[in-house]
Amino acid sequence: MRKITLIPGDGIGPEITEATKAVLAAAGAPVEWEVVLAGENALKESGALLPEETLASIRRNKVALKGPLTTPVGSGFRSINVALRKEFDLYANLRPAKTYAGVKSRYAGVDLVVVRENTEDLYAGVEHMVGEDAAESIKIITRKGCARIIRFAFDYAVREGRRKVTAVHKANIMKCTDGLFLKVAQEVAAEYPQIEFEDRIVDNMCMQLVQKPELYDVLVMPNLYGDIVSDLCAGLVGGLGVAPGANIGADIAIFEPVHGSAPKYAGMNRVNPTAMILSAVMMLRYIGAPAVAEKVHRALTEVLREGKSVTSDLGGSAATMEMAEAVIRAMRD
Ligand code: NAD
Repeated sequence: MRKITLIPGDGIGPEITEATKAVLAAAGAPVEWEVVLAGENALKESGALLPEETLASIRRNKVALKGPLTTPVGSGFRSINVALRKEFDLYANLRPAKTYAGVKSRYAGVDLVVVRENTEDLYAGVEHMVGEDAAESIKIITRKGCARIIRFAFDYAVREGRRKVTAVHKANIMKCTDGLFLKVAQEVAAEYPQIEFEDRIVDNMCMQLVQKPELYDVLVMPNLYGDIVSDLCAGLVGGLGVAPGANIGADIAIFEPVHGSAPKYAGMNRVNPTAMILSAVMMLRYIGAPAVAEKVHRALTEVLREGKSVTSDLGGSAATMEMAEAVIRAMRD
């Protein structure tokens, strides 16, 4: 049994967390949950958005599954998620985008993963006003930052049996910063002759993704492009309800759905638990339980394909927990 930190989160978080816990328990996942709070719930209970006890639990267990968190406007945090990434140096953001039969999308056969650098680039928000009428933002890209994210992408490709890594950049214009990213990508690629390597300029990448996304496999890119392209990719495969994610560092990893806490649906037991269940599948693979991960993934794929016991965003009328129960039944079949 592996102890995992579980943060149910705010809004719809607790509902999708309950559904996911039920599925993992039925699958026989070798996990024991340590439930802690963050976000609005934590603020109410303990007066802190990100209590020390929560940080200590993640530090101790090294792996967390997390529901969405509401960052109250004007709370002093830019975002609790960004704070968590900083605290644990979670430098890799992993965002798979896969089409599933039964989930409405414009494409078929998409199965790609965006690997986004999480710590540098314009997204780090190093900016200031220059007088009242101008502003400056500083884009920092380091060899160390590039090397670890690109190596992460190649190692991921090897581990998951993927065939190609595409480095995404704007090195034709930003010759220093993105130029360094591309140069390091080419150097690291030479260490992995078994994985095909190519690069794309980010604007061309966006066009290619909407024209022929099935050609792409693992995409690695600096922070800001990753922020944008990963949402584009979620849109290719049916949107936020089915988009899982992970933020991974040298020895700590936090798995979470991409969507937010959708407060208007909180407590209604009607939202889609798929993104949270898929995040848990990623977590199971990460902790070395690939057979259980596959069992859950296969059952969820079947429930989506059948389309009978799915939530309203997928065209069905099932409650969150009913969809989870259908996944559990599919595992028994
Ligand atoms: P959101 O993702 O919460 O909701 C946008 C819309 O997407 C919802 O109205 C709903 O229609 C749909 N949706 C989202 N998840 C769904 C699901 N599981 N099933 C069915 N439909 C779903 O985005 P928002 O409204 O911009 O943000 C709400 C709050 O969430 C904000 O406080 C924001 O800061 C926070 N947020 C947190 C995270 C995170 O913790 N990772 C990510 C994004 C937003």
